[in-house]
Amino acid sequence: MDKTIRSIKTEILDIPIKRPHQFSAEKMYAKSFVIVRIETAEGLMGIGEGTTPGIWWSGESVETMQAVIEAHFKPLLLNQDPRNMGKILALMDRQVQRNQFAKATVEMALYDLIGKINEVPVHQLLGGLYQESIPVRWALATGDVEEDAAEAKEKMETESYVNFKIKAGNISPAQDAKRTADVAYLLRGHSTVGVDPNGSWDILTATRWMDRLNEAGVDFLEQPLPYWDIDGLARLTAMSKVPVMADESASTLQEVMQLAKKKAADIISLKIHKSGGMKNVVKIAGIAEAAGISCFGGTSLESSIGTAACLHAYCTIPNLDYGSELFGPVWLADDIVKEPVKYENGRIFVPKKPGLGVELDDEKVSRYRRKNT
Ligand SMILES: [Mg+2]
Repeated sequence: MDKTIRSIKTEILDIPIKRPHQFSAEKMYAKSFVIVRIETAEGLMGIGEGTTPGIWWSGESVETMQAVIEAHFKPLLLNQDPRNMGKILALMDRQVQRNQFAKATVEMALYDLIGKINEVPVHQLLGGLYQESIPVRWALATGDVEEDAAEAKEKMETESYVNFKIKAGNISPAQDAKRTADVAYLLRGHSTVGVDPNGSWDILTATRWMDRLNEAGVDFLEQPLPYWDIDGLARLTAMSKVPVMADESASTLQEVMQLAKKKAADIISLKIHKSGGMKNVVKIAGIAEAAGISCFGGTSLESSIGTAACLHAYCTIPNLDYGSELFGPVWLADDIVKEPVKYENGRIFVPKKPGLGVELDDEKVSRYRRKNT
């Protein structure tokens, strides 16, 4: 049978979300995705999903991803055997610098395809399961102390969420730190919260507020400083108060190696898109493990497709000590697969079927397809 790649198709979808989400740089009402379908000559198809928090996060968007895949990756991939993944990824890296989100989208479809060719779930291709489910943190992003605390309590009662994360950064750093401490105090004794200002604080604010955040029970401080301020992150980590998590500073293997050498993080937030795919995420977790650094299962707010990909990688990783924030599918108002990933008692479960283990729902895809693409 002919396993070579015969066709590659991309399309952009816009899926509504349940409630507006306040990031440091923008408030969001719908989430955009690029879907890639890679098909072999014999008719097997792999699917990948690309999405970003927004172009403010790393400079990529669904529009740039679609353009890069169509113009630059498609000619490289056609007529290749997808099972030569190592060679294909090296070709992509050689041909196109950066564009990690676009690369991760293609890698996801290739892994789905290889899993289907070999009739095994993707986690078996990545080394095998360490655990089959992981805890999920819910993100509190209403922008208001009382509303955030009320939402956390409701989520604990109705859906068994245990821990939370506060999105910060759209007000002044000092106000942000105070709001985080206030929410953490309101939840103290019931659950813990981490805070993510997406690089919008400065070293002075972070240093000043460290004791107060620690007393309030905040259990991690994620990317408080701009991505380039590794010395600043090292100073905060050396305080040994609230554990410091690196996200925007920790995309590539080389960046994580530098963070480890400079002792500039206690925790690394893993994300398959920012790192160019699942394979790199597993390698990054290995660097962290060697340096005694914990990992957290980060999200780019994917649907069940990208979330399944995250799960296949994260569930093989032993040092995923801080669980995950894989709440994308329940945060979106709708999903685009026939059988969404499974949540139970505040945990999310890795799919067991071949490939990514999720199947596109074509009716939903045409409902959310962007009309001008
Ligand atoms: Mg983050």
